[in-house]
Amino acid sequence: MKTISNFSLKKINSFNVESIAPIAYFPSCIDDLITLSTLGLSSFYILGEGFNTLLVENESPIIIKPEFKGIEIDEQADCTIVKAAASENWHEFVGFCIERGINGLENLALIPGSVGAAPVQNIGAYGVELAQYCQEVLWFDFETQSVIQYQHKDCGFAYRESIFKKKVKE
Ligand SMILES: Cc1cc2nc3c(=O)[nH]c(=O)nc-3n(C[C@H](O)[C@H](O)[C@H](O)COP(=O)(O)OP(=O)(O)OC[C@H]3O[C@@H](n4cnc5c(N)ncnc54)[C@H](O)[C@@H]3O)c2cc1C
Repeated sequence: MKTISNFSLKKINSFNVESIAPIAYFPSCIDDLITLSTLGLSSFYILGEGFNTLLVENESPIIIKPEFKGIEIDEQADCTIVKAAASENWHEFVGFCIERGINGLENLALIPGSVGAAPVQNIGAYGVELAQYCQEVLWFDFETQSVIQYQHKDCGFAYRESIFKKKVKE
């Protein structure tokens, strides 16, 4: 797993605030997450693209910056299921769907950030929100070292709200 000490976050937060992470980890597979969970990190911050993150100290917490990529399409008889990895860019993901005639997310185009952050605050715009189209969220639980499948009904989606908002603070 890529790991960088004294990592500058200046270019990856939308305010371009200079803040140095003592160490930044860049997991790209489940095995990397399992490795991270064995390190006994007391606290850390998961950073997507930094568009909803305000850094206020010269020294940031330990950073985990996922580098999970890939989009899979599963055509079913009555619907299309699209599975997108956390580090895909949200706007590009919307474009990917539109190009293939997979409709619904158009109003959410141009929202800056990553796919992984989208369910955290249940992104929305122009009367549409992610929750209307999100069937399931896969979440890695650092305590049990396993991937948990959260079905839509278990995500606690509300206006700019979800259970994941609380989980990232745990
Ligand atoms: C100019 C501008 C316009 C915006 N317009 C809208 C809008 O129209 N609608 C809207 O809803 N929002 C909007 N936002 C807010 C922002 O686009 C969203 O909050 C977006 O989801 C942030 O994505 P990010 O990857 O940059 O998240 P970050 O800032 O990196 O992270 C945000 C939160 O998500 C957590 N997180 C990020 N990635 C993961 C992951 N893989 N796993 C677990 N937790 C994770 C972080 O720990 C943090 O708590 C706007 C922001 C800006 C700057």
